[in-house]
Amino acid sequence: MDTHKQIRSLCLVLGDQLNHDSTLWHDFDPRQDLIALFEVKEESTHPLSSKQRTALFFSSMRHFAEELREKQLPVFYSTIAEQHRSISDALTALIRQQRPEKLRLVLPGDTRVLTDLQTLCKTHDLDLELLADHHFISRPGEFSRWLKKMKQPRMEYWYREMRKTRQILLDEHSKPLGGKWNYDQDNRQTFSHNGPDITALKPLFTPDAITQAAIRDINNHLPQLPGKLDQFSWPVCREQALLALDQFIEQRLPLFGQYQDAMWIDEPFLYHSWLSSSLNLKLLNPMEVIGKAVQALEQGNAPLNSVEGFIRQIIGWREYVRGLYWTHHTDWEQMNWLQHSNRLPNFYWTADTQMKCLQQSISQVLDAGYGHHIQRLMITGLFALLSKVDPQQVHRWYLAMYVDAVAWVEIPNTLGMSQFADGGIVASKPYIASGNYISRMSNYCSRCPYNPKQATGDQACPFTTLYWGFIADNQSWLSQNPRLAMQTKHWENKEAKEKKAILTRRDEVIHSLQIEAE
Ligand code: FAD
Ligand code: SF4
Repeated sequence: MDTHKQIRSLCLVLGDQLNHDSTLWHDFDPRQDLIALFEVKEESTHPLSSKQRTALFFSSMRHFAEELREKQLPVFYSTIAEQHRSISDALTALIRQQRPEKLRLVLPGDTRVLTDLQTLCKTHDLDLELLADHHFISRPGEFSRWLKKMKQPRMEYWYREMRKTRQILLDEHSKPLGGKWNYDQDNRQTFSHNGPDITALKPLFTPDAITQAAIRDINNHLPQLPGKLDQFSWPVCREQALLALDQFIEQRLPLFGQYQDAMWIDEPFLYHSWLSSSLNLKLLNPMEVIGKAVQALEQGNAPLNSVEGFIRQIIGWREYVRGLYWTHHTDWEQMNWLQHSNRLPNFYWTADTQMKCLQQSISQVLDAGYGHHIQRLMITGLFALLSKVDPQQVHRWYLAMYVDAVAWVEIPNTLGMSQFADGGIVASKPYIASGNYISRMSNYCSRCPYNPKQATGDQACPFTTLYWGFIADNQSWLSQNPRLAMQTKHWENKEAKEKKAILTRRDEVIHSLQIEAE
């Protein structure tokens, strides 16, 4: 391309927009338009992004740029070595050089990026063309129309609506296959003493030359980022993502449902799909993922409880939280309904804690940027909630540390579902439990110095102590919720002496956590 001639559209591709069927390509003309991808410092430091997450984004963007070049498309790629501070800085330089008529991109998954780009275009008096994101299953506007009809919106009703309108897992009378919408009752099993049989699982992908170069660049230019890069095995291109999908459907989907909530020492992945990063970077399309799961059911290779449980996560939770993110996007970053203000304990960055459940859940995040749903909700999230950590600090940690973290999905899950900072927009009640829940769902407690049954004394499990403390502090409104009334009744029925001992212990635990956080 002649760099002195004015171009028509500067087409910006963000790191989580790596789909070849994007609306960006519908009207793309390689003679007049230019594609731009930038690796910039601030997207890894403000907000923070771990080494694993950054490597996934850089490597996937570099692979995508290569694929575009192979199609003979004009690509401008600026790596982290070029030291651009922000996307706005990098774009400003390119706008001055190329003098485009407009900036074109698909709606970003983060309102912060959208606002920055709107400001930039105003400054440069440049048209901004925002394109609809057709990666998702729900069409633009569909969620808000549905929301308007709902008195009390809940994920379950949205999920049923999606199944009905998309004809997914329905019988010939348009009723749910097998007679039930939900097989959660079958999906809460724990492992026997022998633990999971995961011999069939293989490691994912060995870093190729592009990934190795991205890792080198991160170590050189962003050495201060949290987490480690000794092992990196995430899919970084569509071809690998499709292989990962096939591997999941064949090897892990059959037992996905049954053990969806279970945890086991040194087994971070179990029967989960590990597909969230590929879905969120748009290397995979959610509909093709669902199609493969349905096919496995039809061919008798996976049971209904697993297939339904898996599909619920994608057309239910994934689409639902995205709808809520855009509905409430201006409010999220101020939310703190419970008015928690404690600091995030330092061990969230090091995994240096004696609490086995937290040590395991955090060390795998530092090593691989991964935790499955129950680890995120009922270990790392639950502990932060019960110890009254400022939810915005919790949100920044989640956004930084997980490879699949993008604002539209991370924020409602963390601030809403996990920290109840939204006062009940995402979930109808806070997800709270004592150490007994963790003991039931895992073998962590068997190798922990604490005892999940004890709330007081030297061996008291901090989760159990903090759980009762949370109930004591929030008793008045928790008791109004029929699903939590029983838990508050248990607290009421305790003797005054026991209550006092628990609350004293709770204050000691929080005090020592706050000293550790300094
Ligand atoms: P599987 O267990 O195999 O589930 C299949 C797919 O369903 C996932 O790949 C994902 O795309 C989707 N899914 C499942 N649960 C959810 C959910 N609650 N919301 C949206 N999609 C869901 N997910 C992210 O993709 N990015 C995040 O930043 C993120 N942050 C979270 C923070 C907290 C506090 C909590 C409680 C959950 C968060 N989740 C997030 C949701 C969920 O934990 C992950 O999607 C899942 O663990 C990813 O692993 P997997 O691909 O093996 O999922
Ligand atoms: Fe976690 Fe408590 Fe069990 Fe230890 S005893 S692993 S801290 S739940």
